[in-house]
Amino acid sequence: MVSRVIPVDPFDLVIFGGTGDLARRKILPGLFRRFCSGQMPDGAQIIGAARSDMDDAGFRAMVGEAIREFGGGRHCEDGTLDAFLEHIGYVTVDARGDGGWHDLKARLRDDKVRAFYFSVGPGLFGDLAERLRGFGLADDESRVVVEKPFGKDLATAKALNATLAQHFDETQIYRIDHYLGKETVQNLMAVRFGNVLFEPLWNAQYVDHIQITVAETVDVGGRGGYYDKSGAMRDMVQNHLMQLLCLIAMEPPARFEPDAVRDEKLKVIRALDPVDYHHIARGQYDADEHQPGYREHVGDPRSKTESFVALKCHISNWRWAGTPFYLRTGKKLRARTSEIAVVFKDAPHSIFGADAGHHRNVLAIRLQPNEGMTLDVTIKEPGPGGMRLVDVPLDMSFAEALGPEVEEVPDAYERLIMDVIRGNQTLFMRGDEVEAAWAWTDPIIEGWQKRGEVPKPYDAGSSGPEDALMLMHRDGRKWREIKA
Ligand code: NAP
Repeated sequence: MVSRVIPVDPFDLVIFGGTGDLARRKILPGLFRRFCSGQMPDGAQIIGAARSDMDDAGFRAMVGEAIREFGGGRHCEDGTLDAFLEHIGYVTVDARGDGGWHDLKARLRDDKVRAFYFSVGPGLFGDLAERLRGFGLADDESRVVVEKPFGKDLATAKALNATLAQHFDETQIYRIDHYLGKETVQNLMAVRFGNVLFEPLWNAQYVDHIQITVAETVDVGGRGGYYDKSGAMRDMVQNHLMQLLCLIAMEPPARFEPDAVRDEKLKVIRALDPVDYHHIARGQYDADEHQPGYREHVGDPRSKTESFVALKCHISNWRWAGTPFYLRTGKKLRARTSEIAVVFKDAPHSIFGADAGHHRNVLAIRLQPNEGMTLDVTIKEPGPGGMRLVDVPLDMSFAEALGPEVEEVPDAYERLIMDVIRGNQTLFMRGDEVEAAWAWTDPIIEGWQKRGEVPKPYDAGSSGPEDALMLMHRDGRKWREIKA
C-alpha cells in the first residue's frame, strides 16, 4: 500500500456507457488501481449503466475481465480484484428511454458524493442530463463528467455547453482532457511556478521558440469512420495540444485554484493570432508494402482529412510577442512520443569563438514515454583539445529521481476521476476555454475546406510530410527528432 494516499470521501459514481471501450480500457482499470492504492473508501459505489441487459454479476464478470486485460497494475494483491468488484453494480438504462431510471435512483445514497460519468457519444449528453434531473437523480451538488469530442466546431460546442447548462451549473461540469491529468503536465506548473530559476527566462526575450509534439505510431485503427470526420486538427490540436500550449504560455495564476488557472489559460487562447495558411502543413500517411494507407483505413480513396498537422502560431501579448510556437501531431509516425521543448536563445556573445560551435539550452518536458524533463546545458567537452563545447542533458527522469515511488504515479484517468470526487476542477476544461479553442481552430479548418486542400502523403514510420520540415527550415530552425 502507498503511504501518502489520502482516501477520498465515500461516493456513488455512475458510469453511463459502462460497457463501452473507454470504460473497459481506462475508467474501470483506473478505479481499480486507486482501490489497490488505498484511495477508495469503503463507502465507494460504482454503477455501470447502459442499454445492455445485464445484472450485477454479469457486469462484475465483465469488469474483472477488463481489468485483467487492461492492467490491474501495481500493488494489487491477490484477492484485491474480488474486493473491488464488491463495489460494482449495474443498471440497465437507455439514455433515450424512460426505463431503468427509478432502479438507478434507488441505488443512490443521499449522503454521498454523487458523480455521473458520460462515457457515451456526445449525442446522448442532453438526454442523460435531462433524465438525471427529470427523475431526480442529480441535484445541485452532483457532478457530471464529459469526454471529448466536445463539439466538432464552435457552433456544436456552444450547443453542447448550452444543453449541459440547462441542467447543471458550470461548477458541476468536468470536461476531461486526459492530457491535463498527466504527471508531467502538473510538473510543468510546479517547475514554472515553484522555482525562481525558469520564470525570469520564460518570455520572448530569452526563448527562441517552443515546440509541442504529440506523435503516435498507431494508425486510425477501428476509429476510421469517426476519425475521417475529425482529423488531427479536431482530434488532437483543438484540445490536447492547445491545453499544453496554454500551460506553457500562461501567466502565473494568483493561486493554484480552478478558476485562477483556467482564467489564465483562457487569456492565452484569446491572445492567439489567426494562423496564416502558409504556416500549416497537413499530411496523410501512405500505404507501404506491409500496411494500407490512411485512405484505405477510412475506406475513402478521396479523403481530404489529415492524419498529421504541423503549424506555427503566435501569441500576441507582452510575454510572447515574437516567439513562435510550433505544434505538430500525427499518426503512423516514427515513434510514440509527447514532448514540449522550450528552446532558449543563443548566448548574446560567444567568448569561445566560432570554433566552439552553436549551442542552446533546451528544456524538454516529456509526457510519454518515460515522463520527465531534461535541460540541455552547454559544458566543456572533457579532456584535451582546447575549449570544445558540448551540450549535455541534465536528466530529471522521474523514474530515476524518485526511485520506486514513481511507480505510484497514477495515470491520467485515475487522477482525474479522483479529482472529480474531490470536487477539484483545476485540471478540467471550462466551457469558455473549449469555445475559445474552437473559435481559433474553426477558421483553419474552414480555410482548408474552402481551398479544397488535399493533405500531402507521408511515409509510415517517418516524421511527417516534407512540408512540416520546411515549416521549420524556412525559419532557420529544425524540429527535434521524434524518438521514443
Ligand atoms: P463505445 O465503446 O461505443 O461505448 C459506448 C457506450 O455507450 C456503451 O457502453 C453503450 O452500451 C453505451 N450506450 C450507447 N447508447 C446508449 C444509450 N442510448 N443509452 C445508454 N447507453 C448507451 O464508445 P467509447 O469508445 O467507450 O466512447 C465513449 C465516449 O468517450 C465517446 O464520446 C468517445 O468519443 C469518448 N472517448 C473515447 C475514448 C476511447 O479511448 N475509447 C477516448 C476518448 C474519448 P450499450 O450498447 O449497452 O447501450
